[in-house]
Amino acid sequence: QIKDSSADQVAFFNEDMEKRLLRQDKIVKVLREVIEGKDTESFYLEFQPKLDLMEDKVIGFEALARLRIENLGQIAPDEFIALAEENLLIYDLGNHILLLACDFLQRLQDEGFHETSVAVNISGIQLLREDFVENIQQKLFLSDRIRKPLEFEVTETVLLDHFSQINETLEAIKQMGIAISLDDFGTGYSSFSRLAELNIDAVKIDRFFIGKISHTSEKNLIISDIISMAHKIGLSVVAEGVEDASQKAYLQKYGCDIIQGYLLSKPLPEESAIAFLRSYGSDV
Ligand code: C2E
Ligand code: MG
Ligand code: MG
Ligand code: MG
Repeated sequence: QIKDSSADQVAFFNEDMEKRLLRQDKIVKVLREVIEGKDTESFYLEFQPKLDLMEDKVIGFEALARLRIENLGQIAPDEFIALAEENLLIYDLGNHILLLACDFLQRLQDEGFHETSVAVNISGIQLLREDFVENIQQKLFLSDRIRKPLEFEVTETVLLDHFSQINETLEAIKQMGIAISLDDFGTGYSSFSRLAELNIDAVKIDRFFIGKISHTSEKNLIISDIISMAHKIGLSVVAEGVEDASQKAYLQKYGCDIIQGYLLSKPLPEESAIAFLRSYGSDV
């Protein structure tokens, strides 16, 4: 009987593996078609509003990539971005994402929201490509597509591993008027002294820390220290994953500049994002 059940387990395991590989093949295939422009349905962006706490005003959105495939349903970005990276598709996919984000920026301009920014997540692999800056200069900057409030969000691993190369790239990006945030801050190993040398404008405190606010006694939280240290070196502070009012109150009390999270809104399709901006108004 023991033998039987372990044979079953092997069969299950193989079946699972096969399923997973088929799933991954399918995702990669769809991503290729998206990049080639053959599939304009499966891939799109959603936009999550960011609220300036001082002004009580929606000052921008983060663009988040979405992939929906028939029979597989909605695929999480953590899964398909990783697959795009492994299959050398992230550079082209990243450019596609940038173009879609610029389309949304243009839409905001057309609707009269001239100051509202759009932040795009940039993979480390994109940043490390030597032609990354040249490419956005030619495709976006020269065509005027990014003479608008655009931001990039980058995570710290790649910044620290390739410090000087990346810092030059960041400088060139800033020259184009694009602001840079360090995403998921606190999950890596950045020291504040290192942070001060980086050409960035803001840190986004990872939602892991924000989630602790409602459950941990106030004096044990390091968020207030992160906020004041970041301010000391001239960075603004964004909190991600703000889900309840007590977290917002805490962040407000300690001078956090901007919050983002389900408390305000989930990531929204383009139309709803515009509607949200209108209904939230300029001073609610
Ligand atoms: P991220 O850049 O840190 O994005 C924040 C994630 O937190 C998003 O997940 C967002 O939907 C989610 N989130 C926002 N507010 C809340 C909240 O209040 N509670 C909770 N529990 N979650 C919240 P999502 O969309 O699944 O994206 C996951 C990650 O995938 C992103 O993390 C980013 O690293 C990556 N990603 C998404 N879109 C892109 C893209 O266009 N390019 C690249 N390179 N990576 C992307
Ligand atoms: Mg982000
Ligand atoms: Mg993040
Ligand atoms: Mg993240």
